[in-house]
Amino acid sequence: MRILVTGAAGFLGSNLCDRLLAEGHSVVGMDNFITGKRENLAHLAGNERFSFIRHDVSSYIFVPGKLDGVIHFASPASPNPASPMGYTNLPIQTMKAGALGTHNTLGVALANKARYLLASTSEIYGDPLEHPQRESYWGHVNPIGPRSVYDEAKRFAEALTMAYHRFHGVNTAIVRIFNTYGPRMHVDDGRVVPNFIKQALNREALTIYGDGEQTRSFCYVDDLIEGIYRLLTSAEHEPVNIGNDVETSMNEFAVIINRLTGNTAGVTHLPESRGEGDPQRRQPDITRAGEVLGWEPRVPLEEGLGRTINYFKEALEKA
Ligand code: NAD
Ligand code: UDP
Repeated sequence: MRILVTGAAGFLGSNLCDRLLAEGHSVVGMDNFITGKRENLAHLAGNERFSFIRHDVSSYIFVPGKLDGVIHFASPASPNPASPMGYTNLPIQTMKAGALGTHNTLGVALANKARYLLASTSEIYGDPLEHPQRESYWGHVNPIGPRSVYDEAKRFAEALTMAYHRFHGVNTAIVRIFNTYGPRMHVDDGRVVPNFIKQALNREALTIYGDGEQTRSFCYVDDLIEGIYRLLTSAEHEPVNIGNDVETSMNEFAVIINRLTGNTAGVTHLPESRGEGDPQRRQPDITRAGEVLGWEPRVPLEEGLGRTINYFKEALEKA
């Protein structure tokens, strides 16, 4: 297949490009580098099955030649307002990538009769009242809160994807990604995994927002990419959760990071939580992924974190 990947210079997009190329496909990467990095694609220079177009997906997209697949991953993704890469600091770009970017990429898929895959998110469930979250849950989302620029853009993107499927017959798929971590995450993007690892390697106390009893379920990137690849090559149209279902509180997570890095500086509880809308619990129900794709996560948290810590050590030394 010849596949367009938007957000190709990002954490997930670049890992996905590698997997698609390893499977023998050709890849056209697209990115405007708003949160991604050229280094994430540097190793692909000279690969004749990889080409790159620098472009903002919010503007009309033209890709010369026939495409068999379109994968839309372009969007800022960090909720942290303390990071310049956080989507609350890029609110209009985030809404445009989710809304106009989804419209443009669906148009490309329609014109090419290509398989389309949208990167959606567990955030479409908001601060969930149902636990764990199944695909049938409609969510508990504040339409005007600080996270709304991301959550509502992704909800619009899902609705538009289903509209193109139902009205135009486009062969669409939607993956709802739960917190994923691993090599090529941006060290400054402000999400908890890079924040904690950077602090631990610098022998600083880890900053826990609020009481630290909020939970997340962390998936290693290779597991996520395997699930996405299976979804891409399936005939599924309904949304599928992909994530690890082992739930961890931020207090427990900080202890694990400090142990794995040998950091003795402990933790600091920032008295304020990260603010309105920080979901209290998040855990995917991955029954559908098992039934439809035969997929389940394989990499245990501490093993994935070990690999990620090694990546950040090298990245920080280079910096
Ligand atoms: P990332 O910031 O590393 O990658 C996003 C990429 O999209 C970046 O390279 C950025 O430059 C690019 N981009 C943003 N807006 C663009 C635009 N208008 N035009 C072209 N390129 C643009 O983030 P990530 O973690 O790799 O996230 C990738 C996708 O997965 C996003 O759609 C995100 O919403 C989704 N997602 C990620 C997670 C996770 O845990 N990592 C969880 C849920 C959903
Ligand atoms: N968090 C934290 N300290 C940090 C960064 C994040 O305690 O330095 C918490 C944050 O409040 C949230 C959880 O970690 O409850 C996960 O945050 P992240 O930014 O990784 O992504 P989210 O799952 O909220 O989208």
